[in-house]
Amino acid sequence: MHVTKVADHIYLVDVEAGGIKNFIASYVLKGEKTAIIETGPTSSTSNLLLGLKKLGIASEDVAYVAVSHIHLDHGGGAGSLIKHLPKAKIIVHQRGAPHLANPEKLWEQSKMVLGSIADIYGKPEPVPIEKIVATSDGDEIDLGEGVVLRIIETTGHASHHQSYYEASGKAVFPGDAAGIYLSEIGVVVPTTPLPFRMDIALASIEKLKQIEPKLLLYSHFGKADDAEAKLQAYADQLRLWAQIAYEGIKEGQRLEAISKRIVDADESIQKALKYIEAHAILSKTVFDQSMYGVVDFVEKFDIASV
Ligand SMILES: [Zn+2]
Repeated sequence: MHVTKVADHIYLVDVEAGGIKNFIASYVLKGEKTAIIETGPTSSTSNLLLGLKKLGIASEDVAYVAVSHIHLDHGGGAGSLIKHLPKAKIIVHQRGAPHLANPEKLWEQSKMVLGSIADIYGKPEPVPIEKIVATSDGDEIDLGEGVVLRIIETTGHASHHQSYYEASGKAVFPGDAAGIYLSEIGVVVPTTPLPFRMDIALASIEKLKQIEPKLLLYSHFGKADDAEAKLQAYADQLRLWAQIAYEGIKEGQRLEAISKRIVDADESIQKALKYIEAHAILSKTVFDQSMYGVVDFVEKFDIASV
C-alpha cells in the first residue's frame, strides 16, 4: 500500500489487491468532510484502512464512500469497509444499490465471469440498507470548503455505472468509463466486458469530454493530465475495435481470429502486449472479456450506431 497526493485535496491509495501494485486505486477527497471514491475489492479493505491511517484520517471522519459501479474491483469492498467507518454513507448508482445490500447474486455471477480472479478480489459483504444512498445523474455531494462531487451517469461499461466530477480540481473520476490506464507505460486499453453497450459507452465518454476536465483520476490506475485527449483517444480505440470486429464477423471469423486482427491494428495494444501478458489479471481480461464484449456488441447491434 502506498499513498500519493494527486491534487491539493485529493490522495490516491494503491490498495494492492492480491499484492498487485499500480492496478486498483482508491481516492481520498478532503473538504470539511472526507469522501472516499472506489473501495477496491474486499481483499484489500485492510490496505485502504491503512491508507486512511497514514493520511491521519479518523474512521469517524469519513462521511461518504462513493463507488463508480458494483464490479468487485470497484465496489466489492463497500460492505467490509463500512463496518470500520461508523458515520459513512455509501454512494452508488440506483441500479447498483440493491446488489450492494444483497451481494449474493453479484458474487455468483462474478465467480462465473471472472473465475479465479473473483477469489483474488474476495466475496463482497452486504451493506446495511440504511447506509446506502442511491444516486442519479446530476446529484451533488457537498464536502464543504468548496469541494463538491457531482454525479455523472456514464453507463455503457455497465448499466450501473457513474463517474464523479470535482470542479475545484477539474478532476473526473471515470471509474471504468474511460478504459484502463496503464500509467507505468502510458497506454490506455479497453475494459468492455459483456454485456457491453458501445453506443452508450461512447455517449458517456462524450459527456465526460463536454465537462472539459483537466485531470482524469483512473480507478485503474492513477492520474493523467491530458484528460480530453485521453478520452478522445479511448473513443477512437473503441471505434477501431468495433470496425475490426465488424469486418471479421462479415468474413465469418471467430473471436480468436478477430482478437489477433485487433492486436495487429491497435498500436496501443501492441505497446502494452508484454505488460498485459505478464499481468495476473489483465492477461485474463483484455483479450477474452474485453474483445468478446466488443464482438458481442457488434453482433447484436447496428455498427452504424457507433
Ligand atoms: Zn467494471
